[in-house]
Amino acid sequence: MSREALEPWHDRALWFVRQKRDRAARTVAEWEELRQLASQIKAHTMSRLDHYLERFERNAVRNGIQVHWAADAQEHNRIVEGILARHNVRKVVKSKSMLTEECGLNPYLQARGIEVIDTDLGERIVQLRDEPPSHIVLPAIHLKKEEVAALFEARLGTEPGNADPTYLTYVARKHLREHFLSADAAITGVNFAVADEGLFVVCTNEGNADLGTAMTDLHIASMGIEKVIPSLEHLGIFTRLLARSATGQPVTTYTSHFKRPKPGGELHVVIVDNGRSAILGNESNAQALHCIRCGACMNTCPTYRRSGGHSYGYIVPGPIGSSLGASRDLKRSGADIYNCTLCGSCSNVCPTRIDLHRQLYAWRKVYVERGHLPPKKRWLYRAGAWMLRSPVRARILFGTAKWATRLLPRRLLYHPANVWGRTRELPEFAPKTFARLYKERTREP
Ligand code: SF4
Repeated sequence: MSREALEPWHDRALWFVRQKRDRAARTVAEWEELRQLASQIKAHTMSRLDHYLERFERNAVRNGIQVHWAADAQEHNRIVEGILARHNVRKVVKSKSMLTEECGLNPYLQARGIEVIDTDLGERIVQLRDEPPSHIVLPAIHLKKEEVAALFEARLGTEPGNADPTYLTYVARKHLREHFLSADAAITGVNFAVADEGLFVVCTNEGNADLGTAMTDLHIASMGIEKVIPSLEHLGIFTRLLARSATGQPVTTYTSHFKRPKPGGELHVVIVDNGRSAILGNESNAQALHCIRCGACMNTCPTYRRSGGHSYGYIVPGPIGSSLGASRDLKRSGADIYNCTLCGSCSNVCPTRIDLHRQLYAWRKVYVERGHLPPKKRWLYRAGAWMLRSPVRARILFGTAKWATRLLPRRLLYHPANVWGRTRELPEFAPKTFARLYKERTREP
């Protein structure tokens, strides 16, 4: 599908999810209180992270869970591979886990002869297309059902041209069942780890984590250090926020608690740092660790909705991904942090009240201070700042732009040599168009 056709469709699809989130949030009278509590619990836990992680480990070990610690992605992958090798595992079923994406676990295991099957439907679709997820909750949101039908026809032998979602889901379920039945081990992520109980919680809408862990005797769970919360009384606050913020549902369909290995089986948790301690030590960025991966900031972000997740430079896209990506490799994340419009919509919807737009603004300052801004842009920004500093100069600037879009011949505006115009449909009469767009975009449902 062409970019021009995809953009408005993608925009509407994500905005629909955002509106569902708004309606669901309005049904909870104490919604803002819950957000405040979630933010405070996260801040408290992060301030005593070593204490809660050790507490989780002690209680988990007491429950019979084997706990491993990984400093980075390589160590995480080596630990997982070691466990699988000890059990002669040839095939793994995996439920959605952004941490395993971050660590590049699939290619790592596949290069060592272990077959990895993603079992979340959206994840399986992007895996069959050999591409990364474009959203953390809706991994295949960039694809239309006709594209999925063509993929399934080529890979799973479905009827040519049949794009009926019920039919496609039925075929996918049958295809995945065969893998569940023949897998040797299951890998899941961790949504929340409860320190007092030594248990962890995995949330899915498809029950694929439950099916995978029920059908195999070996379960490995990959967990970022920020997933820990103090006790069970805090869990309900996060689960109430998570489902509503993610998809507008009152509750995630399967909220499974794993406390001990099944009889005769093994349960492992790999606790991963992979740069998170560095984020914790960065005052203006530490709140990024409060993220519960609901995706709400993506659904509302005007840039994400129009550009899609694959246009971002880090595995997690959108506002939170831009902040996390900047803490990993600031130089490479320049496009992401500058694509933000600083509208603040992401911070307004975030269930744990992360100050996302402020973080991205702070990253821009660091980006400039460290000299990463290309000279052309530096001069452009300086000129822009000089123009906008005076109302008279600003009026001249906007007046010129307005008349330029009206009077200049279109072939000049859209000339291939004009990089700026090449990728834009310039407004006919800028101020009116902007006013209309502003009204549309700021209208609350
Ligand atoms: S930053 Fe907030 S809104 Fe975005 S995914 Fe994380 S918890 Fe959700």
